[in-house]
Amino acid sequence: MNAFTIDFEDWYQGVELPYSDWPKYEKRVEIGFYKIFEMLNQKNIKATWFTLGWVAQNYPHLIKELHNAGHELASHGYKHDLAYKLTPEMFKEDVSKTKKIIEDLTGQPLVAYRAPFFSITSNNLWALEILSETGYQIDCSVSPIKTWRYGISKCPDKIFELTDAKITLFPISPFYAFTKRWAIGGAYFRLLPYGLTKRGIEKRISQKQYTMFYIHPWEYDEHHPIINIDRKTKFTHYTNLSKTVHNTRQLLNDFTFDTVSNVVANYKQNHVVEQFTIKVLQG
Ligand SMILES: [Zn+2]
Repeated sequence: MNAFTIDFEDWYQGVELPYSDWPKYEKRVEIGFYKIFEMLNQKNIKATWFTLGWVAQNYPHLIKELHNAGHELASHGYKHDLAYKLTPEMFKEDVSKTKKIIEDLTGQPLVAYRAPFFSITSNNLWALEILSETGYQIDCSVSPIKTWRYGISKCPDKIFELTDAKITLFPISPFYAFTKRWAIGGAYFRLLPYGLTKRGIEKRISQKQYTMFYIHPWEYDEHHPIINIDRKTKFTHYTNLSKTVHNTRQLLNDFTFDTVSNVVANYKQNHVVEQFTIKVLQG
C-alpha cells in the first residue's frame, strides 16, 4: 500500500513570500485542485490532503467536497510558516488552530500533520511532542533526504513510532538513482523521468516498505504566474509543470494508493512497527 498525499496550498504559498503580500497574488488553487481531485475520483482513490488552515477558511466548499468524497483531511499549518522558524508556543497555536478550523468543517477528528517545506529537522524536534499533545497521531514532516532547506539524513525511511514523543512517523520515501537519494513526489516527480519514480516504488514494494507520495495543486496548474524568486526555488517550482498530469496518470495506473491513516493502520496490522526514541532523529 502507498499513501497519496497533496499539500493543499496555492502557488504563491508554495514559495516563501510574506503572508502580508498574499492578497496581491492571483488566486488559482481551484484550478489544480480540480485536476487532481478528478483524476483521483476517476480511479476511486482516496488521498490525504495536508491543508493550510488559511485555505480551509477561504475555500470551505472544497473541504466539504473532499470530505464528502471520502478523502482524508490533514493539517499543513495555518499559513505556511516554516515550523523551525516558530517558537514552541507559536507552533502549538498554529497546529491547534488549523486542526480546529478543519475539524469544524468536516465534523471528524483530524490526526495527521505535515510541516510546510518538511520543516521538522534535528533543530526543532520539540515540534513532534507538541503535535501529540495537541491530538495529532501521525506526522509526515520529516524527510530522510537532506536539502538546503530541510531533512534529517539518519531518519528511518519507513513507518515507525517514537515512544517518548508518542507519535507515529511516516517520512518521505527516498529512492536511489545516479548514486543519490531522491524523494518520491514533488519536484523530483517532474524533474526526473517517471520511470525512475516507478522503479523506486517497485523496489520499496519488493522490500515490503510502503511509499509516501506527495504533490501540490499548483503542480497541476502549468500556467500559474511566474514571479521573481531565487534561482533554486524558481527551478524546483516551475520546471516541467506540463508533465505532472501525464506522470500522475501513469502513477495511478501502475500502483494502488490510499490515505495516510489507512496506510498506517494497514502497516501496523501487517508489520511489527519499529519503535525508537526521539534521539534517533538528533544531530
Ligand atoms: Zn506546502
